[in-house]
Amino acid sequence: MPRTAIISDIHANLEALQAVLADMESEQCSNIVCLGDVVGYNADPSACVDIIRGLNCPTVKGNHDEGVLQPVDARMNPIAQQAMEWTRSQLSRDHLEWLRKLQFMRMVQPFTIVHSTLDQPRLWHYIFNAGDAAANFTRQFTDICFHGHTHVPKVFCLDGTRAAEQTDALAELHSGKVDFHTREGVKYFINVGSVGQPRDGDWRACYAIYDSDARMITFKRVEYDLQTAMEKIRTAGLPEYLAERLARGA
Ligand code: ZN
Repeated sequence: MPRTAIISDIHANLEALQAVLADMESEQCSNIVCLGDVVGYNADPSACVDIIRGLNCPTVKGNHDEGVLQPVDARMNPIAQQAMEWTRSQLSRDHLEWLRKLQFMRMVQPFTIVHSTLDQPRLWHYIFNAGDAAANFTRQFTDICFHGHTHVPKVFCLDGTRAAEQTDALAELHSGKVDFHTREGVKYFINVGSVGQPRDGDWRACYAIYDSDARMITFKRVEYDLQTAMEKIRTAGLPEYLAERLARGA
């Protein structure tokens, strides 16, 4: 598989998903994988599940995909709870069954995919720094593992025994496109950012393309119809905060 698009944290943002799918077509991606959180927060959960299911691509389960299957988690903040309840009301039994069957991690030769971390994929740990990433590397048996969950694109690596974050790798992502060349003998744990609710201060959808022949990962930002996505959140009666955070990329 020479060029694989990796998408994560779509969160029911149909406008963002459609823009990313169009962009990856122009990038001639031959495969696609999805790192979970197809639903939650935004206004089009059933349409997004239909699209991802229709792609029939390797997909792993995110905490929102799981949360919608269970009684509301009282530890979750009230806005997330409200969005979760609303999301559940929008999904058919068929949609819920598809979400239920998703696995927590998958090996997609020559890399691995997981929503949070490989060491404890069901506990939904957030990886913000190299210290957090260290435990993941103890369970990573491929050179590259892609993950999501924080909605912030990042590159962590394990060179020898030390886990580190390559902060310089994504310094130019504001330009809309960044190529990152992987080195042989180094392991990478890569967060591809979020399609439907970016939290790194940039409202544009984020995803990555892995070219296994060139050993290169391209991170991309894609503009989408933000106003429509925000309007749909308001029309659905979801919290205003969810519309406004899309515009802030936070
Ligand atoms: Zn998420």
